[in-house]
Amino acid sequence: MIDKNNFLQMRPSWLAIDLAAIQHNAKAIMQHAGAQRLIAVVKADAYGHGAVPVTEALYEIGVRDFAVATIAEGITLRTQVMHDDFNIVLLGVQDVQHVRVMAAHRLTPAVGTLAWLDEAAAQLDAGEQLVVQLAVDTGMGRMGAHSEAELQAMYDKILKTDTLAFSGVFTHFATADDRNQAYYAQQVARFNAWVTAVGIPKSDWHLANSGSALWHHDQIETGTIRVGSVLYGYNPGAPELPLPLALKNVLSLKSHIGAVHQLQPGESVSYGATYTATTPQWVATLPIGYADGYLRRMGGMSVLVAGHEEQVIGRVTMDQIVITLDRPYPIGTVVTLIGQDGDCEITVEDFAQYANTIPHEILTTFGPRLPRIYQ
Ligand SMILES: *Cc1c(COP(=O)(O)O)cnc(C)c1O
Repeated sequence: MIDKNNFLQMRPSWLAIDLAAIQHNAKAIMQHAGAQRLIAVVKADAYGHGAVPVTEALYEIGVRDFAVATIAEGITLRTQVMHDDFNIVLLGVQDVQHVRVMAAHRLTPAVGTLAWLDEAAAQLDAGEQLVVQLAVDTGMGRMGAHSEAELQAMYDKILKTDTLAFSGVFTHFATADDRNQAYYAQQVARFNAWVTAVGIPKSDWHLANSGSALWHHDQIETGTIRVGSVLYGYNPGAPELPLPLALKNVLSLKSHIGAVHQLQPGESVSYGATYTATTPQWVATLPIGYADGYLRRMGGMSVLVAGHEEQVIGRVTMDQIVITLDRPYPIGTVVTLIGQDGDCEITVEDFAQYANTIPHEILTTFGPRLPRIYQ
């Protein structure tokens, strides 16, 4: 498994990523939501899983629509994915001065104002064309039309401008993974009313993020879902809302024992000497730290060694952590920081809960120093 020409792999800490599990999850969520089309959200390097391999794996099962946040992410997909016949939506607000770059790479920006379309049209030459999608702000408060009239003006502008083309209209939910659905229902109602009045066909609508596709898709009148989290196998509503379908785990975080020694009573570990042994205690050092995304606040977290739990002791440092051991283990023993080992498991949700955040933040914080190994 170690490739001797890959210097990244010479430090044995890595993310193992199961692409078949992503394919499974994509099919499972489409079936669960009764969807015919999936827009796969692969922003932030596919939530840390690697945008190019994830896009190729989903392409293989027929997905042709992908969404990212930035122009750079879009260009990476357009230039590095082996195929060419797929769509790339840019979900975030883009600076209109880059409109020709977007057109050249066939990136489809989400647009939220008429002024943006006017400016884009002014910059594009005859023969160039930018395909756009219209964002509708029904309650997220980030971007999009705030009324039927604004949406109508933008739609009309696209239809009468040769250098602009239209490929979809969408909104984003603020509370899809919340038990209280009043705000969600209000967003759905606004979208339906405005978009119907403007006369945009339902085949061009997309609304559902993961929370919506998991729990409330019956309220949405389109067969397209636009999801990220569920593809990567985790529950955006944890711990309050249980998953209504089985998703497969995609990612594990592993390391090797790099050194083993025995602390004597009174001896301490790491900066600040915050952990002191009271009895003879075997410990191991692992080559992973907060620079890799193993956050400084994970001190005290469980890890799995030989199918049982051990614990991170002392402060997490930039490149290394120290864990307890019940006995000495050989150098090179695999330690599971996220994932399964025998009957024990540490999920991304467990990890995020310990860190007092959500899985999205954990996954997108894993550093480039950790190799992604695909299986
Ligand atoms: C990130 C994002 C998504 C995906 O959200 P998940 O909850 O991960 O499914 C969908 N739509 C927009 C506009 C987004 O920014």
